[in-house]
Amino acid sequence: MLENIWIIAQTREGVVEKSTFGLIGEARRLLTDSGKDGQVTVVVIGIETKSELVVLGCQGADRVISVQCGEVTCCEGELHAEILSNLYHKHHPSCVLMCQTPESIDLGPRLAALLDTPFISGAVDLKINDQGVAHAIRMIANGYLYEELIFHCSPSPVISFQPSVLTPLGPLSDTDCLIISEHPHIDPARLKTKILQVIAANPENLNLEEADIIVVGGRGVGGDEEFSIIHELAEAIGGSVGGSRPVIDQDILPFERQIGQTGKAVGPRLLIACGVSGANELTVGFEDAEIVVAINIDQRARIFRFADLSIVGDVQQVIPLLQARLPEYQKDRNRLP
Ligand SMILES: Cc1cc2nc3c(=O)[nH]c(=O)nc-3n(C[C@H](O)[C@H](O)[C@H](O)COP(=O)(O)OP(=O)(O)OC[C@H]3O[C@@H](n4cnc5c(N)ncnc54)[C@H](O)[C@@H]3O)c2cc1C
Repeated sequence: MLENIWIIAQTREGVVEKSTFGLIGEARRLLTDSGKDGQVTVVVIGIETKSELVVLGCQGADRVISVQCGEVTCCEGELHAEILSNLYHKHHPSCVLMCQTPESIDLGPRLAALLDTPFISGAVDLKINDQGVAHAIRMIANGYLYEELIFHCSPSPVISFQPSVLTPLGPLSDTDCLIISEHPHIDPARLKTKILQVIAANPENLNLEEADIIVVGGRGVGGDEEFSIIHELAEAIGGSVGGSRPVIDQDILPFERQIGQTGKAVGPRLLIACGVSGANELTVGFEDAEIVVAINIDQRARIFRFADLSIVGDVQQVIPLLQARLPEYQKDRNRLP
């Protein structure tokens, strides 16, 4: 039944995002569990750079379908759904996986509607048995409940996964990946939507998955008023603001700013965690962060296990001290060649 699993690559500015590697790992696991010798195919739209495509083989893909269709600067849901549905009828995959992202929230239902197949969003687990019956688990009610969905894999479903539950396999040394080029033509007159402009967000409001620097505030920061210190630090260092779940539950930040199991999975170069205890449900969301700085008043706080730099102290005192040193740091940076 599971002969060819398709993965729709998540891309940004000509680069395949790491979440796609995790999806390849998930697809390989599904094939191993089913005992079938199937194939994992990654469909990449709008990237021709060979090194970006070859890397998918190193992550466990058997085939890459590289789709070129004129100038594509971002995921245009309607256009991509048309392209993918045409390719789907040509290649007949067993199921289609994508990451749960703002782009897939637009693309996934459009594609499923064109294929007249179910769309399962935000899965955290998936099993498919010999008869092609799939069991997907996904979180509902803001992560307080799980629901299990049972459906037949015929017609092939479109399923989006929570990126935070995905684990890449690679890089693998033994790879043999076939790259296939497709040049579909879609009559623009068929499309009802067109993206005219993509407006870059203020770094503080930037999509957390894209941010290079993130300042995360937790319950230890205090209420709405005290939280302004987190925004000030983020602004001073050109970072985005994220929060732990209690901060979102208290409406200090909107849900799309939540990091963790039920929020976003992020991988910034620098993450500063302020007044968070370091619960597993939060830390699972920033496993890919390169450098983690933690500020917590309790020296035994779990967050310090994940920190490259641990600062024991009150956030309301430590952050102003950090900010006071920033101009000096900037001066030192300017001295670098
Ligand atoms: C199914 C499920 C899914 C979940 N998903 C998520 C998720 O996606 N993201 C998430 O964040 N949580 C999630 N949670 C909740 C998670 O278990 C924790 O409860 C939550 O992460 C705790 O948030 P916190 O660290 O801000 O608060 P707390 O655990 O209350 O920690 C506050 C910390 O601040 C420190 N502190 C207090 N005052 C100060 C001060 N003045 N200066 C410095 N430090 C101070 C304290 O020492 C403490 O360590 C989930 C839970 C469940 C059950």
